[in-house]
Amino acid sequence: MNDIDTAIVSGASSGIGEATARGLAAAGFHVILGARRVDRLVAIASEIGGTALPLDVTSPSSVAEFVAAAPACRVLVNNAGGARGLDPVESADEDHWRWMWETNVLGTLRLTKALLPTLVASGDGHVVTVTSIAAREVYDRGAGYTSAKHAQSALHRTLRGEHLGQPVRFTEILPGMVETEFSLVRFDGDAERSDAVYAGVTPLTAQDVAETVVFAVTRPAHFNIDEIVLKPRAQASATRLHRE
Ligand code: NAP
Repeated sequence: MNDIDTAIVSGASSGIGEATARGLAAAGFHVILGARRVDRLVAIASEIGGTALPLDVTSPSSVAEFVAAAPACRVLVNNAGGARGLDPVESADEDHWRWMWETNVLGTLRLTKALLPTLVASGDGHVVTVTSIAAREVYDRGAGYTSAKHAQSALHRTLRGEHLGQPVRFTEILPGMVETEFSLVRFDGDAERSDAVYAGVTPLTAQDVAETVVFAVTRPAHFNIDEIVLKPRAQASATRLHRE
């Protein structure tokens, strides 16, 4: 395996992560796919000539085993994450909050921290973190998710300054509405509630986001795309949508 061409994608078993793994493989990378649903990872990896490895970003030992099994890395895509619930702060579910902070914030911290030496040693490392427009906006009943995404973004943007002068780039991807399993996870498998999120709107696809990631990581080494905000045409903000 040539470390120059290796990309690691967390949360590659569905949605944006899966599409990004496919896009990076098509762009010539050897992709290492991590997530908890290993059966899905294995099926995707076999189609794209990648490597599937179990990864639970909320578990320090799982992250350590994952990194030990995948020592090569030039590009890291911190994509694993999501939302649980949609409750006002006054009735916040602390288990949901813990899940969102562990997955989006501490998960990104753990994986990035473990891989930074390898990324820098590659001579042209690149960390892409998929946050959200929820990293810049707040909305009613969304504080668990928006606070986690704000924190994940602050962590990512801090790295940019801390590594100035070193051969590593940092790109934050901030999508608006993308149709994936995101809402199904948020609403605990309630398909009706999840479908209602996308009713009357043409959302972004996971592939739209993946193409943006591939664009960012295939720029020349001197060129750092700091952040890209992408939304469906029908979405002006987290709460303003035009529904047909
Ligand atoms: P998705 O289809 O639910 O994908 C989430 C991915 O994260 C899955 O592959 C899941 O895999 C993985 N994951 C969850 N917990 C994990 C853990 N503990 N360890 C490792 N992997 C874990 O949703 P998505 O929309 O593609 O979400 C990808 C990212 O985009 C998330 O960070 C999300 O917050 C962000 N985002 C989504 C939207 C949207 O509208 N969809 C908008 C802005 C930002 P396993 O369950 O197999 O572990």
